[in-house]
Amino acid sequence: MNAGSIESLSYADWQKIAADTLRAVDPRLFVDGEFRASPEGGVIETVNPTTGAVMLEVTAASPADVDRAVQAARRAFRAGTWSKLAPRERMAVMYRWADLIEANAASLSVLETLDMGKPIRDVIAGDLPSVAGFIRFCAECIDKIDGRVTSTDPAALHMILREPLGVVGAISPWNYPMLMATWKIAPALAAGNSVVLKPAEQAPLSCLRLGQLFVEAGGPPGVLNVLNGIGEVAGRALALHPGVDKISFTGSTQVGKLMLVYSGQSNMKKVALECGGKSPQIFLEDLPDMDRAVEAAFRGIFGNQGEVCNAGSRLLVARSIHDEFVERFSARAALAFTPGDPLDPATSMGPLVDRESQRRVLSMIQTGVSEGARLAMGGDAPAALPEGAYVNPTLFTGVSSSMSIAREEIFGPVASVIAFDTVEEAIEIANDTIYGLAASVWTRDLSTAIHCVRAIEAGVVWVNTFDEGDMTQPFGGFKQSGNAKDNCIDSVRSYMQEKSAWIRL
Ligand code: NAD
Repeated sequence: MNAGSIESLSYADWQKIAADTLRAVDPRLFVDGEFRASPEGGVIETVNPTTGAVMLEVTAASPADVDRAVQAARRAFRAGTWSKLAPRERMAVMYRWADLIEANAASLSVLETLDMGKPIRDVIAGDLPSVAGFIRFCAECIDKIDGRVTSTDPAALHMILREPLGVVGAISPWNYPMLMATWKIAPALAAGNSVVLKPAEQAPLSCLRLGQLFVEAGGPPGVLNVLNGIGEVAGRALALHPGVDKISFTGSTQVGKLMLVYSGQSNMKKVALECGGKSPQIFLEDLPDMDRAVEAAFRGIFGNQGEVCNAGSRLLVARSIHDEFVERFSARAALAFTPGDPLDPATSMGPLVDRESQRRVLSMIQTGVSEGARLAMGGDAPAALPEGAYVNPTLFTGVSSSMSIAREEIFGPVASVIAFDTVEEAIEIANDTIYGLAASVWTRDLSTAIHCVRAIEAGVVWVNTFDEGDMTQPFGGFKQSGNAKDNCIDSVRSYMQEKSAWIRL
């Protein structure tokens, strides 16, 4: 069954697929081409955030398990079963891997929904095709990245070779479990590295299956290992491991900073960080289409329950259009985003990833109220869905840049409207943050648009749209949103190192 044919499945179909998939899942560690228990025997309960029910006990890796996985990855790298495979053969495995992911689209999608509450329709339309598409993109890059011969003394030949790094440790978050992991493991594998992936403990099931499918596609054992585990235990052990050459991390800014410490405390491994955000959307008085702008505003913060690194959580609205903007936003967003069971294809908004997230987001909403912001919609949990970790889509008005809700990453469906009078004031507010992941500006005026694109401190600035792009686009932040770029051909290069060979002729 592929991504196309699963679009017609009903709620009842998905409930059955969910039950069948959970029965078949192997929740152990995937190391050296097979599932293994941890000799130390740790487990983590995986809870369905929609129902609160414990679905499975997933093996939790100990530091010794991490060491075994890194050793397996190093053995495979030195053996050359992947690192020295001819480019076209490596490409063929990655293409088969993408095909198998599509062939298993239903079970992979349902794991995502059960583990972290994402609406099934979003996984089918977005995450799953993006995962397969990005693996194919990275495969295509494999024989497009060349070394160089430099212009030097004719009595010598100077070549610059590009080689894989060795063993890459990838640590990923739970908000797009498969996709965020794929943004790391696909370019790292395309470059010829071995990988140890530690997905987020809240949602590891789809990633374990990705590892298994890689081997089914012909990937040699030990090249891609997947270890579920607690961040402070397994993630820390991986980032501190002297046998890891690069750690590629996506997650919070707070934990991202620890990666730099771990690198310094161990082997100076390279560190690539994709971290948090507090992205502004600037709506100027001359925006081209109010309805489209309002839609981008509510989709940009309520999509994926607001659990998006580049969520447009700060809506900077020109005072002259403020009231109309807020009125249209409140009227339309509540209809477009009604919380429900994410396994139902009609549902556009699921629960947050867990109860802890729900508590944290509701407490941030209380902070907003106590600091003087006004609730224009939402602000609570839906009374009809008490078992799940739900939060209603929420909009604050009367927000100032100094309030906690305008400064901290909430990582939930909470938008803050900040009014402004001039373009320069809007730019100043947009840049008044430790983050710099993404931004947008809405205007008819080309000069104003270009001025804003240049002045805003963010890795991507959209004009008259939000959150568009594809795999050719480098994605990553300025400031404390990170120090690296995912996607694009350069992401494959970032998992390689240059070696200089000077040959006296
Ligand atoms: P998190 O930082 O809590 O966890 C991310 C990963 O780090 C998990 O696998 C976790 O187990 C691990 N981890 C936690 N503590 C660790 C430690 N001490 N040592 C090693 N590993 C540790 O983040 P999260 O809650 O999973 O994800 C949400 C965050 O991710 C948000 O801040 C969001 O903005 C960010 N994010 C960024 C991007 C991007 O591309 N910039 C994309 C998605 C998510």
